[in-house]
Amino acid sequence: MAINPKKHEMPVQSAEERARNFGEVALGYTPEIAVAEAQRCLNCKNRPCVDGCPVNINIPDFISRVKTGDFEGAYDTISLSSSLPAVCGRVCPQETQCESKCTLGIKFEPVGIGRIERFVADWHNANFKGEIALPESNGHRVAVVGSGPSGLTCAGDLAKKGYKVTVFEALHTAGGVLVYGIPEFRLPKDIVSKEVETLKKYGVEIKTNVVIGKTLTVDELFEDGFEAVFVGSGAGLPRFMSIKGESLKGVYSANEFLTRANLMKAYKKDSQTPVMHAENVAVVGGGNVAMDAARTALRLGAKNVYIVYRRSMTELPARREEVEHAEEEGVKFEILRNPVEILGYNNPENPRDQKNGFVRGIKLIKCGLGEPDERGRRKPVEIEGSEYELDVECVIMSIGTSPNPLIKSTTAGLDVNGRGGIIVEESTGATSKQGVFAGGDAVTGAATVILAMGAGKTAAKAIDEYLLKN
Ligand SMILES: Cc1cc2nc3c(=O)[nH]c(=O)nc-3n(C[C@H](O)[C@H](O)[C@H](O)COP(=O)(O)OP(=O)(O)OC[C@H]3O[C@@H](n4cnc5c(N)ncnc54)[C@H](O)[C@@H]3O)c2cc1C
Repeated sequence: MAINPKKHEMPVQSAEERARNFGEVALGYTPEIAVAEAQRCLNCKNRPCVDGCPVNINIPDFISRVKTGDFEGAYDTISLSSSLPAVCGRVCPQETQCESKCTLGIKFEPVGIGRIERFVADWHNANFKGEIALPESNGHRVAVVGSGPSGLTCAGDLAKKGYKVTVFEALHTAGGVLVYGIPEFRLPKDIVSKEVETLKKYGVEIKTNVVIGKTLTVDELFEDGFEAVFVGSGAGLPRFMSIKGESLKGVYSANEFLTRANLMKAYKKDSQTPVMHAENVAVVGGGNVAMDAARTALRLGAKNVYIVYRRSMTELPARREEVEHAEEEGVKFEILRNPVEILGYNNPENPRDQKNGFVRGIKLIKCGLGEPDERGRRKPVEIEGSEYELDVECVIMSIGTSPNPLIKSTTAGLDVNGRGGIIVEESTGATSKQGVFAGGDAVTGAATVILAMGAGKTAAKAIDEYLLKN
């Protein structure tokens, strides 16, 4: 049978329709499309896709099960390595991981591994009726700080081994960036809550509204009887550019803007949380977070949304699919531009003018590209005298985040690096403080869901070995 050179298209909401609603953009494969896409897999002997997956899912095995219609068997295979397949099938950068290694990809488009993974997870969630087998308790207690993908994975793996795990989460809902950052139109929140509910069935206790470092310290967790602590507190501290005008009303960090829109549902009429519904919005940055903020601003009713990025489209770090979706929806790209100042209203004749103190625009300078930096990316070089102004009422800064220093500053003996990341032993996640392990963005700085999950898995294994030894 001749191989289809292209991946089966993902059914999506039309760009016009979706740009004004928060429903999921990608609608998922049907069983027929999933089987047809699985049939493109060559089932090659050396299985390079498995090495491309940070948690080494047995991809050829789950795909061969999909070929025969054994969707639950495929789910079981994925579950051996990944605890969040419905999430990863939606947000993993497969194009730079498993799919980039696919043998079929040498000649044609690679197998749509992520799309098949998503199908399998959704099929399981819709159809699985069996009971989960609960492990026998081993009597040991472990505390997990943070309920993002690293914390949830670590908690799940330990609970399945019989540990009594308590997750402490600062926010009122569990899920980390999966609930407060990544928007509903890319990752519906009921998928995350289903994963959290499954963990609870395994006996994991989740305590929300507890800020470790304020409500309780790590040392107090040990005093309370926990024998090990996993810190998966993420990298939620936003960075700003230190340019004039950043304290004007109408300037948000992407994290604040997205938290208001996603977690607090500020787009709903009955939401208690306000968010600016501006007509003209500039988003500074070019990563996935910037694309999410820009597309959220559109859905909140903006007429013009600009991505301001200082390099060219080639260097844009966001996933290609997200950039294409943003372009289709009408996001405009101010490429090779750097912000110099955020401009505010200031009416000297009327100090009571209601607009005073609000954003009225952003001043940008044009850039060219110079020599490559240490990471091989060509450096932006500002072109003198090329400044111009863009009329916007809202500016969203999306230029990166760092780990919050709270846990470090309240935990004696916990070493961090110059960027605030907790220093760990790579193979175990063990920190400089005995019994404390860490992983995910809290260690690496802002990274990916699958890497955070992988770190949670590594630490769970190491905590198990540590507690059995002690
Ligand atoms: C908008 C956005 C879009 C993204 N898109 C993608 C994508 O498409 N694909 C991808 O792979 N990755 C994406 N990422 C990155 C990815 O989401 C993160 O790398 C991942 O969530 C990190 O997981 P984590 O468990 O380390 O931390 P987080 O998900 O950040 O979770 C940490 C949790 O710890 C809690 N916490 C922090 N401090 C404390 C404390 N002191 N006490 C108690 N709890 C605390 C926080 O409230 C949070 O819930 C995106 C990130 C953002 C912000």
